[in-house]
Order: sequence, then structure tokens, then C-alpha cells
Amino acid sequence: MSTHKKLFIPGPVEVRDEVLEKMATPMIGHRTKDASALQKSISEKLQKVMGTKNTIILSTSSGSGLMEGAVRCFTAKKAAIFSIGAFGERWYKMAVCNGVPADIFRSELGQITTPEMVDEALSTGEYDMITITHNETSTGIHNPVGKISEVLKAKYPDVILCVDTVSSMCGDYIPVDEWGIDVCITSTQKCLGLPPGMSIASVSDRALEKAKTIPNRGLYFDYVELAKFVKEKPFQYPSTPSESHMFALDYQLDCILKEGMENRYKRHCEMAELVRDWARKNAELYSDPDNLSVTVTCIKNTLGIPFAEINKKMGERGYLLSGGYGALKETTFRIAHMADTTIEEVKAMLKDLDEVVAELKSQNA
Ligand SMILES: *Cc1c(COP(=O)(O)O)cnc(C)c1O
Repeated sequence: MSTHKKLFIPGPVEVRDEVLEKMATPMIGHRTKDASALQKSISEKLQKVMGTKNTIILSTSSGSGLMEGAVRCFTAKKAAIFSIGAFGERWYKMAVCNGVPADIFRSELGQITTPEMVDEALSTGEYDMITITHNETSTGIHNPVGKISEVLKAKYPDVILCVDTVSSMCGDYIPVDEWGIDVCITSTQKCLGLPPGMSIASVSDRALEKAKTIPNRGLYFDYVELAKFVKEKPFQYPSTPSESHMFALDYQLDCILKEGMENRYKRHCEMAELVRDWARKNAELYSDPDNLSVTVTCIKNTLGIPFAEINKKMGERGYLLSGGYGALKETTFRIAHMADTTIEEVKAMLKDLDEVVAELKSQNA
């Protein structure tokens, strides 16, 4: 393997050495009291981090597993999938592949899902659950979930709200209970700053009660089964969980709470502002300037240099940035600023990026 490149891609992220070391903790019996104590500890800390009293479930899968489980478990009539890019499309595809009735409501790329769009769709009375991408990693914007949830609270209180916070939970400000999010899904390999391989969801009791009435929920990603093992065993996992992730997560959550959620959010805002400044000065921001993501920035490549060349040169300096995703693969590139990355690290990376771009421009001139 070549030397390690520092990751500025939107997952997986750099993982601190102490966290990696926790992954090497010796295994324990997964039906022991110690295993329950570990899962209980993780659950309580996650409730603090996510601002929720809801049940916390873990899944030994990346976030996609719990997203797929959610469309199956919480759709009795029909799901309204609101898409602002690649990850909304993925949620729709999951519904279709599982035979779950669903309609997709697309926004123009680089734009948000508006509360008005949600109101209009739900006013038909056809839908009993909706999915929202909180932070669209392909375009670098975040949705106004707080405002969308106000529409639900005022007019459609029975509709289940499922939110994909895979690339924003623990970086951005997401008060789960205040916003009335029934199902809030995230993964370990993004803002939480752990290796990939585990995902997390908070789930409300009313969503669980509803799920119990829905047949064909599957088994491995069945929220009812996952929650039952948390509530009744208690704090166990239906099959064998990734204990390595659990040891590391328990430790990392202590560090996150020690930093404080507000400080963590502020640090993400500051990192985002530095990268946006670079983009405004040197190229162009891709998305709606009023709703820019605080965890990842999508930049229109107006530099006149193919991004592959930039990333190759950055690689020689020990960095990995990210190309565009999906429909934006050729025209944009992305810089992630999430998890435990520091302001200083972002500044140092941008200085190198300045030098690389100047070098390539002079070569091409
Ligand atoms: C990364 C990502 C996913 C997919 O999550 P996995 O953990 O890779 O399955 C889903 N949604 C968003 C917004 C993402 O950024």
C-alpha cells in the first residue's frame, strides 16, 4: 500500500488513532451483561448527541441498510420520497426494488425540498410516510428539515417522517425530537468519525407501533425486531453486532460530548466557510447559496483543469479530495469537512490546493 492520504472525501473520513485502537479491543460474548452494558452506554450517549428520547437501534451495515429497512417498515399506504440528488434517488430505488408503493418528488439539482412541496404532496392524502435527505452529499446542500417538520406538525400529524442524516448527524445542527423526526438514520463513517460498517437510527414509539401492523418488513433490517432487542432483552442485538465498532463508538461518543455539540457544530460551520471562501475566490459554488451544507462543499469546476489532475497532484502532497457524484461527476468536485478534521488541517489543505492549482495553470498556459 502507498502512504496514507489524508481524507477530505465525504466518507469514509479520517479516523483518529485512539479510535482505531479501540477497534482492536478483544471480543466479548454478545449475549453477556457486558455486551448489554456497552450497548446501553452507546444508546444513552447517542440520545444526547441526537437530541432525542427515542429508541436507538444499531445495525451492522452501512446506512443504506437502515434506509432500505425504513421504507419497508413504515410504509402502509404509499411513501413520498423527496429527492434533491443522488441519495434521494437511492431511497426511491430501494422502495421500487422492495415493491413498496412510492412516488418521487424531485427538486432541481442544487436546490432544496421546500415545505411547500411537502405540503402539496401530502395534501393529496395519498401518503403515510415521507423521506427527506437532510444533507445531500452529491450537491452539498442541506434541507430545512425544521421548517418541513412544522408543516407536518400543523397539518399531517399522522405522517411518519424519516430523515437521512448520514452525512450530517454530529456535524450539523439536528435536534431530532424538536423537529419531530420519527426515524433518523446515520452511519459511522461520516461526521461521527469512525470506520465504515455500522449504522444508527433513532425511532419513535409511534413509528414502531405502526410498523407492527405492516407485513413483509423483512428481518435483518426490521426496526420492530431491532427495537425489541433493545427494549426487552434489554440492549441487545438480534444477530451478532460489530463489537469492534461498538467499542470505538462508545469511546468516540465520549470525545464528541466532551467537545460539546454546539462547539462541534460551530467547528463544522467554520471549516465550511473556509472551503466556501476558497471556492468563491477560485471557482464557483454549485448549490443554492442560502442552504449550503456545513459538512461537504460541492464546487463547480471552472478552473480549466480536469479534476483528476488536481487530485493526482494533491495525492502527491498526501491528500484525497472527491470528484463529483452521479449526474455531477464530470462538472463538479467536492471537499468534505467533517468529523474530527480541524480548522488548521483545512487551512493547510487549502494552501496546498492553491499551490497545486497555480502549478497546473502555469503548466497549461
Ligand atoms: C453516504 C451517504 C449515504 C449512504 O450511506 P452508507 O453508509 O454508505 O450506506 C446515504 N445518504 C447520504 C446523504 C450519504 O452521504
